[in-house]
Amino acid sequence: MLNSTFKIRISGRVQGVGFRPFIYNLATQYKIKGTVTNTTFGVEITAQTSAEVFRNFYDNISLQAPSSSKIEAITFTEVSEQIHFKDFQIVATNSGNPINAPLTPDFAICSDCKTEILDKNNRRFYYPFTTCTTCGPRYAITENFPFERENTSLHHFNMCPECQKEYNNPKDKRFYSQTNTCSVCGIQVWVTNANGEKLYETNPEIFPFLANQLKSGSIIALKNTSGYLLLCDATKAEVVQKLRLRKQRPVKPLAVLFPSEESLHKNVSVDDFALNELQSTVSPIVILPSKAKSDVAINEVSPINRTIGALLPYSGLLHLLCHETQIPLVATSGNVHGSPICSSEKEAEEKLKNIADFFLHHDLHIEHPQDDSVVRLTKKKRKIILRRARGLAPNFSLPSAYKEQIQSKKIVALGADLKSSIAIFPNTYLYASEYFGNLSDYDTALRFQKTIQDYFSIFKFQPEVVVKDKHPLYESGRMLEELQIDKNNIKVEEVQHHIAHFSAILTEHNLWQSQNKVLGIIWDGIGFGTEHEIWGGEFFEYQKKEFKRIQHFENFNWILGDKMSKNPKISLLSLWNGNPDEIRHLFSANEWILFEKQKEQNTLQTSSVGRLIDAVACLLGFTYEMTFEGEAAIYLESLAQKAYDIQTAKIDYLEGEDLTETILSFKIIEKVVSDSKQNISKEEIALNFHFTLVKVIEKVANFHSFKEIAYSGGVFQNALLVDLIEEELAVKFNCYFHENLSPNDENIAFGQLNYSVNINS
Ligand SMILES: [Zn+2]
Ligand SMILES: [Zn+2]
Repeated sequence: MLNSTFKIRISGRVQGVGFRPFIYNLATQYKIKGTVTNTTFGVEITAQTSAEVFRNFYDNISLQAPSSSKIEAITFTEVSEQIHFKDFQIVATNSGNPINAPLTPDFAICSDCKTEILDKNNRRFYYPFTTCTTCGPRYAITENFPFERENTSLHHFNMCPECQKEYNNPKDKRFYSQTNTCSVCGIQVWVTNANGEKLYETNPEIFPFLANQLKSGSIIALKNTSGYLLLCDATKAEVVQKLRLRKQRPVKPLAVLFPSEESLHKNVSVDDFALNELQSTVSPIVILPSKAKSDVAINEVSPINRTIGALLPYSGLLHLLCHETQIPLVATSGNVHGSPICSSEKEAEEKLKNIADFFLHHDLHIEHPQDDSVVRLTKKKRKIILRRARGLAPNFSLPSAYKEQIQSKKIVALGADLKSSIAIFPNTYLYASEYFGNLSDYDTALRFQKTIQDYFSIFKFQPEVVVKDKHPLYESGRMLEELQIDKNNIKVEEVQHHIAHFSAILTEHNLWQSQNKVLGIIWDGIGFGTEHEIWGGEFFEYQKKEFKRIQHFENFNWILGDKMSKNPKISLLSLWNGNPDEIRHLFSANEWILFEKQKEQNTLQTSSVGRLIDAVACLLGFTYEMTFEGEAAIYLESLAQKAYDIQTAKIDYLEGEDLTETILSFKIIEKVVSDSKQNISKEEIALNFHFTLVKVIEKVANFHSFKEIAYSGGVFQNALLVDLIEEELAVKFNCYFHENLSPNDENIAFGQLNYSVNINS
């Protein structure tokens, strides 16, 4: 039979996932001749064979593709080819052209590699950077694309003859593995004390030493594959307290690394849904309920509610350390309060020297440091992303129908200030960065700027449009000034905060072309609305590229700026219409005079649901200052969850009220107060409040005849609220929640960008 030549183009996540070795073996199996190579868009195959064999080969590419790959498109053409290939070869490429593909994320260590590093007879015994074509760091160490060793931090390391042999052997799992190293040729680890003095340099000694230190109460700063982690014994109250004190983090829950599945089951309630998440290649922190009898010092690890942010060892380093310690360890980002995660030895020693007793360093450069991603799961098995970072960002898979309907535009969006992020549209993909934190922190702002510049260089990109928030004083807007770009040829666009949230959820569910009008329920703590209004309890109508604010929560005084976001009692004061004497005891005499005066002179109003939640939490016992954002909301949710779990009957506090003008926030407060006076339990009141919010949505949707309801904003990090909405409304309406983005301000950049693509084109 006559041989023809075919070119196959595959796009999607096909680099750094063992795709070329897979193709090589498949082609060899079919005795096909030709080449496979990484390109700027993915992978290209030249195959010389008969049409019939080609058909089988082609079909099997999609059927048998490596588990960590994601094929988005595969096409072929027959070409006239002069060359007659003698065999099939993997051809390395470094075209220098900008990439047009997803940036392959880091993958958790696979079970085979885990087994090898604990096998005394294996040459990788106790080598913590053992990887293969399906596992190990990728994005964290990528300096450039396509994904080839010389484009990563591993280009400093030359493979030893043994590693090279594996790399060249098509039958080996490390065939053509770009991250292949071993203890002979690979990454070196060493341990220092807090003064920077080297103590140990050999792998097998290091881990027992660190394990002993951890067990005797030391705090370790460990350079993981995507940044430093601070680790300590999670079972000893005094040790966790010491970490909290040194890190200046009084109550915000700390994540816990469990040494094994067994230990996980012993300490937290974990079902298959949660276990799947924890054991996925992303391997995020999953927030789970603590068991009543737990080894973890729960009051110190998670003082405000009995949940634990659980992690399983996802890197060789963590796996070896867990193997030695066999106890749950607190594992929190290696940073000082509010700053980004440390990623270099120098930075860590400088910033963490007053926190850590010992450091585990290594000489693999981390190009793109990222925190662990954090997710929570609702009882009705919905996933809520709280922090989108390692394993997820900066990739985002747009709905394919949406991708077809939009025009590419050279655009970058600068996001919000408090949970800052970047979105960029440099090619046919859209990239949504990890969250960076609060831009008022100097180091956070620096990392934000560096990441934008990195994107510009990876994608060889000059933006034509920069999108920012409408807030005139936002730091993210000011970042524009810092960018090294030609500002004369840039169009600057502004998008209102809550419209950006709405745009994010419209995009995730491809609702821009919806035939039905869509109701946007956009609730959060704070977003610039108008000169005199801070919004946060918004109802928008979207139809045919038009947004209309159709309803909002009743305005109340926005007083004392940032103080109000931290002190629930200030929100209560602002929402209080009753006898002042009933709440006066919450304030000092001076505070009372000052706050009352502020209330009188105030000109700013807010419709924030976040602050309404704070006020209700305050009435139900949260009378102190918050130490982290959302603390009062978590308190209120966990009260309500208790009532929900015992199937308490729910009451709508706005039953029979006229909500056509505004949603009656003051009335809700009155009802909470009167129920409290009648000795109805806090838990029941909290549940009624949640239920009232759900009923508000239903009433607005009915009044304006909506069928489609989309939800975004930080308030929807509340798992109970999401479940209640699903329970009450999913039968009558189509409800859309974020699935691959966080509902909080992390999605603002993504929303801004998509607003611009759809509305300003
Ligand atoms: Zn592996
Ligand atoms: Zn080697």
